[in-house]
Amino acid sequence: MNDPSPAHPPETVIPIADPASGLRGVIVLHSTRLGPAAGGCRFWRYDSDAAMMADAVRLAEGMAYKNALAELPLGGGKSVIAMPAGPFNRDALMRAFGRAVEALGGDYLTAEDVGTSVADMTIVRGETRHVAGLDAAEGKPGGDPSPWTARGVFLAMQLAARRLGSDLAGLTVAVQGLGHVGAHLCRDLHEAGAKLVVADVDADRAEAAAREFGARIVQPGDIVAAEADIFAPCALGGVLDSRSVPLLRAKLVCGAANNVLAAPDDGDLLARRGVLYAPDYVVNAGGIINVAAEHLGWTAAEAARRVEDTPRRLAAVLDLADANALPPHRAADRLARQRIARAGRERKRA
Ligand code: NAD
Repeated sequence: MNDPSPAHPPETVIPIADPASGLRGVIVLHSTRLGPAAGGCRFWRYDSDAAMMADAVRLAEGMAYKNALAELPLGGGKSVIAMPAGPFNRDALMRAFGRAVEALGGDYLTAEDVGTSVADMTIVRGETRHVAGLDAAEGKPGGDPSPWTARGVFLAMQLAARRLGSDLAGLTVAVQGLGHVGAHLCRDLHEAGAKLVVADVDADRAEAAAREFGARIVQPGDIVAAEADIFAPCALGGVLDSRSVPLLRAKLVCGAANNVLAAPDDGDLLARRGVLYAPDYVVNAGGIINVAAEHLGWTAAEAARRVEDTPRRLAAVLDLADANALPPHRAADRLARQRIARAGRERKRA
């Protein structure tokens, strides 16, 4: 988990409850300065209300930074629904959630996240139009964001590798997790001439990558320490911590997973070990760009143009890091906070 105490408190925290359907959760608007607070809805089992709240607050702050650095006219937020202990009617619960989103009058834009699906968001759409992540209409953005996310990660990796003086061709990339994003990323890397080392807890997925891309398979527990030039975490968050960072052989970390660093200090440790970290929320914004495009009515071409621009946005973060002798994750946070603060000042002047 990232630092549980956010450096900047959220603008608004709205508890949501509907006893009839069993809905219990919270919507957190970290910031609406750049636009509606956009961020998905997580449906998860929590040990306590405090744990649920902490998760929502942390995730909302991350979304605000991701959206700001993706140059989207969106603030950042997140909603979390606690999994009811007993049986419940999913349709009624999602409808109640949709009404809670609608009550905010467009200050919050929801979409799917861990534990929710396109089907859930389609139910939510019955109660509010402030929802994205629905099925894509012909030629429009929307639908599965994973190919967009993978494309942004690939382009960012290309830029970061060049900064270390090399093309991807001939380099070895260790890909952890071969799900929606990881599988697309492997294809792009293979086509670019990179060699692959892969791991997935689902052995079939690893075998498919070996067949299709000639990837070498290692056990899930060995992927961080695999002999590779680049480590691409595309499974779970928190994979780099004080125990795993010293095992890393790669000189670059660039992947799709959210919250790759267990804590900000782990990013400092990476920097001290001479490993370049391409910050997660800078490189994995392809999915939220697709969601934003769907909501804002952009064309698929406009969404694609913005995803293709990922290397420029990463370069701005790495330049700031170099200029200020900061590790990249801290430079990314600083740049995001500056953008949000500037938007606040501009709004006051207007
Ligand atoms: P996914 O669930 O489709 O794939 C995750 C894969 O990781 C699965 O194949 C799973 O078996 C594997 N896995 C789980 N634990 C593992 C372990 N310990 N070792 C190796 N493999 C393991 O998810 P996804 O949509 O591909 O997303 C991957 C990551 O990227 C997630 O952290 C997600 O939050 C993040 N992300 C995804 C998107 C998107 O557009 N899908 C956007 C931004 C961020």
